[in-house]
Amino acid sequence: MSSPSSTKKFFDAVLFKEIWNAMKVTFKHMFHRPMTFEYPREKRTIPDAHRGALGLLRYDDGQERCVGCDLCEAACPSRCIKVISEEDTSMPLQRYASEFYIDITKCVFCGYCVEACPVNALAMTKVYEFSTHDKRDLLFDKTRLYEIGEQHIDDAKRYLYAHNQEKKGEESRAYRYHFPQSVQRQQDASSL
Ligand code: SF4
Ligand code: SF4
Repeated sequence: MSSPSSTKKFFDAVLFKEIWNAMKVTFKHMFHRPMTFEYPREKRTIPDAHRGALGLLRYDDGQERCVGCDLCEAACPSRCIKVISEEDTSMPLQRYASEFYIDITKCVFCGYCVEACPVNALAMTKVYEFSTHDKRDLLFDKTRLYEIGEQHIDDAKRYLYAHNQEKKGEESRAYRYHFPQSVQRQQDASSL
């Protein structure tokens, strides 16, 4: 005599029960909103805190924020930042980055460099489309980093706000440590 379980198996096989179960799942998902994006025609909304390509920023008056202090270079776990700084001859005691490189192929987008910067000269943007056939294009130099910063200034500021590193409005320039105003050169003062 056949057991109840073998009878059930027989009827399941005859009635194609597994196929109907699979079709049930298919029909259910036909009426769901698709969760996929047809990239690149459709793009996701990127959150403000997203860690995309790094950019260098200027103050509203156009002055470069970066003072070439190297703290970002020291903080980078991937050793992908190189800063070469010089004294600004027109403003003694004030330094600036004469050269600035980020090897974005090594960057792990941790954001430590942004956190380390005392003047919020670095910020991350929502830029993620920088694939290329030539790896050398991914060594971002100072010009490219300022271009990214200028083209995506709103996203860069939103990143700083989202990470509570800068506040909106009037406070933005004074929020972080501000390097002392430059003093005049000694010889300039003595020549007066
Ligand atoms: S995000 Fe991280 S890995 Fe990339 S440059 Fe900054 S500190 Fe280095
Ligand atoms: S980006 Fe910031 S931390 Fe890096 S060298 Fe410039 S001022 Fe210093």
